[in-house]
Amino acid sequence: MKKHNFSAGPSVLPRVAIENASAALLDLNGIGLSLIEISHRSNDFQQVIDEASSLLVELLDIPSNYKVLWLGGGASMQFCMIPFNLLEKKAGYINTGVWAKKAMKEAKLFGEVVEVASSEDKNNTYIPKNIDVPTDLDYLHITTNNTIFGTEFKTDIDYPVNVVADMSSDILSRKVDVSKYAMIYGGAQKNMGPAGVTFVIVREDILGKVSRQIPTMMDYRTHIKEGSMFNTPPVFPIYVVRETLKWLKSLGGVEAINKMNVEKAALLYDEIDRNPLFSCPVNVEDRSLMNIPFVYSEAYKDLDGALFIEFTKERGMSGLKGHRLVGGFRASTYNALGKDSVEALVQAMQDFEAIHSK
Ligand SMILES: *Cc1c(COP(=O)(O)O)cnc(C)c1O
Repeated sequence: MKKHNFSAGPSVLPRVAIENASAALLDLNGIGLSLIEISHRSNDFQQVIDEASSLLVELLDIPSNYKVLWLGGGASMQFCMIPFNLLEKKAGYINTGVWAKKAMKEAKLFGEVVEVASSEDKNNTYIPKNIDVPTDLDYLHITTNNTIFGTEFKTDIDYPVNVVADMSSDILSRKVDVSKYAMIYGGAQKNMGPAGVTFVIVREDILGKVSRQIPTMMDYRTHIKEGSMFNTPPVFPIYVVRETLKWLKSLGGVEAINKMNVEKAALLYDEIDRNPLFSCPVNVEDRSLMNIPFVYSEAYKDLDGALFIEFTKERGMSGLKGHRLVGGFRASTYNALGKDSVEALVQAMQDFEAIHSK
């Protein structure tokens, strides 16, 4: 039986994308060869990567002065590639938790890093507001969705500098105005595809401004020039990304999926707020659409966390254990998670309440 998959990443993907990728593994386009045994420079694969890029451009309405790249190394590799390519003197980082901090740590190897705002004082349960952004930054780095803490920047904010955004866990979940960012990047494995490929959307004019030498593989201009084929790209993950983007387009694109995401998240947040056994530690207005952490409420804090996890497992649910930094539970409600899965979780919470409420 297919499980309700609430994993934070790698995470649930559209069934049709997995089925089509399975078929391509056995025989790509009826050519008698597997997708993973042909040259990445063959026409058959060139079509795949081109279509993945053009679908992303279409779904996100990416302006023509931006380039789409498919790279290896994960979002974590970008934490160092970004300052390598963009940090000459000073960069600003908004510290909203674990991933933002990791990005900041790498940047410090390349130049001055200013923490322009932080939510650490309250265990990253909110998004800093009314931030005073210095205008002399080479760029400002933000993490739009904080996968671990469940906070999210809900709107594109106008900052007076080049904004670089880690959108690993909320890309394609809501409409963004790409023109407000100098660069958007992330690992595909949360909302776009499997692990192994990283997407980068970069405005070309921000490159080539630093004085340091950049190793060929680390230089975005290499990958632009070579169409993400300077070295062998992650062919299989890119194929699954293409299938996932085709699926998203067939549903009506980002606006259509956003409506469903808003509905799914509301269902779950409403139940967390209603149910006396549970509470959500996140500031209401900053609650993420994609990663929803919740814990036992104060009155029930002595209940064993494993009890609820076991209870949901028996009902075919997986991936609900919370991150150790937050505790409790976390439901990731990515694009490919069906509303039926959220309904099943809500039902489980209500049944659990009926057994354990005092
Ligand atoms: C998962 C995640 C990362 C790390 O991605 P890798 O591809 O494993 O390097 C970075 N940032 C955010 C926001 C994430 O959710």
